[in-house]
Amino acid sequence: MNNFGQLPPTRRPTIMYLKWRKRNDGSLKSSGTAFIGEVIKLWSSPLWMGVDGIQDYVNMLLHSIFFLGHIHQASLLPNAFFESPELWNKLTRRFPQAFHNYKDPPHQTPFSILLTLAVRIYGHEDQIKYFLQRFLKALTLPTRRKGESNYTHYYTLEATVIAVCYNETNGVKYYGASLSCRGEREKNFMINWSCLHVWHDYVSYAVLSFRHDEQGNGIRFPVTVKCSAFYRNPQTNFYEDRRPCKNCGDLFSLSNPEMDRNDFPYGNCAETECLSKLIFNDQDVLSKMILGSYYTREKLNGLRQMAANALEHGLKA
Ligand SMILES: [Zn+2]
Repeated sequence: MNNFGQLPPTRRPTIMYLKWRKRNDGSLKSSGTAFIGEVIKLWSSPLWMGVDGIQDYVNMLLHSIFFLGHIHQASLLPNAFFESPELWNKLTRRFPQAFHNYKDPPHQTPFSILLTLAVRIYGHEDQIKYFLQRFLKALTLPTRRKGESNYTHYYTLEATVIAVCYNETNGVKYYGASLSCRGEREKNFMINWSCLHVWHDYVSYAVLSFRHDEQGNGIRFPVTVKCSAFYRNPQTNFYEDRRPCKNCGDLFSLSNPEMDRNDFPYGNCAETECLSKLIFNDQDVLSKMILGSYYTREKLNGLRQMAANALEHGLKA
């Protein structure tokens, strides 16, 4: 695995990569600025103002964006995300923690926090999707270029895919977003961090076993668990059904997965987050989980130590 903050020593930047860097220079700065601007606009709306604990959500959103700026290849300070000194002044007074603690890793990427808030405010799946579509449209960011590889995407802070899962016995839905950060180092960092501090141990075990062990060892959910994923089509701005990718087939034994391998690391997918929430909250699912045949507590601890080592390396870089 790469050291966090450094290019892999054996890989020289290609001309394609350098072109991509040039085209997307400043994209996190502009998309982060737009994201914050839209959040602040909504924060002063009656609907958001009525949400209990809304200050905490806005604080988490700011903190998460600032952290991604901090770990970005061309590191950004929190003030890089503000075009207006008045807004910067106002927010530093209202949310001092976000500005002081921005070097501490957050528990969720910005889009995941936005999704959590949307679930809280709107509740219904269609309304949640509609809110996210409108939010993203309001950012007026460049659309993704069809046919280009993942690494040529502009840094939009959008989660490419959202997922929802539930246990048929009670129907309570849990939502997740794919990691809304770009870059191999950033993704590796957030995945290792989430395995150690955010996701349920069973999900962490599956992810870590595929990341750090030669023999990946997936987990299986009871048949009453249903999981769906949706991809926002940038041309139509609507969410469309998406089959589970090969990674999710490996990790969670989801049915009918794609057979082609994708470019994303294990743990990047939206399914990881929603399935972890389901295990945490549903005792029936927890008690019926089928763990990989190699699973032991010692094995999990060993994998967690590998993730911790990778993180420690990363933070020193
Ligand atoms: Zn997947």
